[in-house]
Amino acid sequence: MASKALEAVSSEGAVFPGLDGTPGLILPCPLASIDALLGPMIQFCRLNMDVALNSGQVWRRIGLMGGTFDPIHQGHLVVAEEARERFRLERVVFVPNRQPPHKADCRITSPEHRFIMCVLATADNPCFAVSREEIDREGPSYTIDTVRAFRAQLEPKTELYFITGADAVLEILTWRDPDALLEECHVVAAYRPGFDLGMLEQALGEEKARKVQSLPIPALDISSTDLRTRVRSGRSVRYLTSPAVESYIRKMGIYRD
Ligand code: NAP
Repeated sequence: MASKALEAVSSEGAVFPGLDGTPGLILPCPLASIDALLGPMIQFCRLNMDVALNSGQVWRRIGLMGGTFDPIHQGHLVVAEEARERFRLERVVFVPNRQPPHKADCRITSPEHRFIMCVLATADNPCFAVSREEIDREGPSYTIDTVRAFRAQLEPKTELYFITGADAVLEILTWRDPDALLEECHVVAAYRPGFDLGMLEQALGEEKARKVQSLPIPALDISSTDLRTRVRSGRSVRYLTSPAVESYIRKMGIYRD
């Protein structure tokens, strides 16, 4: 299916198409408040998730794109698209975490802002969806809990690919139940040029490193940290993230201090 972007702008707002004939998303214009956005966003995600998870096929491959996405940027979208092609994934579901387990003392933007930005960035791609699985789950967002929650909703033969940055995968032995995680899904480590793949073996040991699939990403030197720094110092983030996310950051005043 061809990717469709913004469908129309009506008096109600901006209309995005839904997946496979499902109703689209109407964003109130102007973006008055986060509350005005959340209802339609959540409804849109439920419908899209329903389609993403229930195609009726027995053999399926679904990507789970894990991250804090503070904020989501073009680098994340490129990773998702590369993974979709390389592993022949039917859908890539972005799973923004509520509480990154290893960042208890860090200042993180509210889960709802990060969730909304993920929806805005992915709404025009019929192969992408955004899940509230971790956003709605209290406590630290352990990846093994997420993988099991998805497994419980899917055909048993579905293959799950948990995709995240190679830097995060280097720490996987400190995550909850890493052995089970490596057994219950394919872990995909996306790396930029210059990343030393030998570090994965050093950190994980030969046997576990062999279970991780590495995914080279074209030279896109974009990071969430850099975007936050740019916004804080009044610099442009245009073309580093999608136009809708850029406007959302500006209108909501995120990352200014
Ligand atoms: P992070 O420390 O913020 O990110 C590490 C590096 O990976 C950064 O360079 C980051 O770039 C990049 N990255 C993060 N997600 C990416 C993605 N989906 N695709 C490509 N690059 C990505 O890591 P994090 O986002 O907090 O954690 C990554 C995932 O691991 C999350 O789903 C998190 O919940 C999970 N995790 C689980 C446990 C556990 O179960 N105990 C512990 C730690 C992490 P950007 O900064 O530009 O995104």
